[in-house]
Amino acid sequence: MKCLFTLFAIMTMLPAFAQDFSDKITLVIHGGAGTITRANMTPEKEKAYREGMQLALHKGYDVLKKGGTSVQAVEAAIRVMEDSPLFNAGKGAVFTHEGKNELDASVMEGQSLKAGSIAGVTTIRNPISAAIAVMEKSPHVMMAGRGAEEFAREKGLEIVDPSYFYTESRYKALQRAREEEKTELDHNAKDEKALKKGPKSGMNAPENLIFDEGKKYGTVGCVALDRFGNLAAGTSTGGMTNKRYGRIGDAPVIGAGTYANNNTCAVSATGHGEYFIRSVVAYDISALMEYKGMTLDEAAREVVMKKLVERGGEGGVIALDRQGNISMPFNSEGMYRGYIKSDEKSEILIYKD
Ligand code: ASP
Repeated sequence: MKCLFTLFAIMTMLPAFAQDFSDKITLVIHGGAGTITRANMTPEKEKAYREGMQLALHKGYDVLKKGGTSVQAVEAAIRVMEDSPLFNAGKGAVFTHEGKNELDASVMEGQSLKAGSIAGVTTIRNPISAAIAVMEKSPHVMMAGRGAEEFAREKGLEIVDPSYFYTESRYKALQRAREEEKTELDHNAKDEKALKKGPKSGMNAPENLIFDEGKKYGTVGCVALDRFGNLAAGTSTGGMTNKRYGRIGDAPVIGAGTYANNNTCAVSATGHGEYFIRSVVAYDISALMEYKGMTLDEAAREVVMKKLVERGGEGGVIALDRQGNISMPFNSEGMYRGYIKSDEKSEILIYKD
């Protein structure tokens, strides 16, 4: 009798264990937000970005289709964009004030709430893989600088000479940003007056620093849902042009640039990192769903289109829930973004309209 009861209990639980999300697998990517308008785009450039994003979407989606995990899919998609000089991550990363490329990346898994991140590294070819190694092969969540590089080397990840990350266009952007900074500094009196009045946004924005030329935040990110019903999110970046003093943005900060929780959503952000850190953007979207019962889209829009706008934080997010719902709000001119769903419906978008 006891045996029969146990068998019955196991049989009623089986469907829950075996719940299959194959018809919900979804992958969403972004390639950065910012002043991306039709007017400052050429057909060649647009084609290159579309092809780069298409490749990333398909690499990630193939992993999901073959039964891989959401973390593996996020890694596959982000590596494509890290290896492409078009995006501000891996090769093609922006330059620091000193003329270096310092990379940040993070990952989070929605079932276990495990996370990994690396910051300020200069020799790891694929920072997203290092973040995953931190999550899966260490007891830590975040590693920075030389230690993170030593760890990546020990784990057998590809190490490159810092010159690998160089691209002429990003280097020129640094020269322009430094020139503009010089001009700005010549007008210090005006800036000081403005600063005395207090920051425009209500937050302590460094008004006299020029970051990325043309304000394009080319960070890359990916969120995915696998057939086991697990969400994951990852983000990788070179940060902001002309950054100084070992500045670290939101991309490697769990809860700010990246967050995933199977009970709510997976989020990856792009934009002016300082605002995203202070607004704990990715976690705030999850919290609004958890505590206020908002839908994914309501929560993402509340944070990006209201809270961030009020605080002066420019940028956007990609977000995905366990039902395969997608939200991709941004308050900048444009955001490179795209998705692919289980019915293989896929779309790549760049502009606001
Ligand atoms: N969020 C990144 C940072 O502040 C920049 C970006 O999105 O491109 O480092």
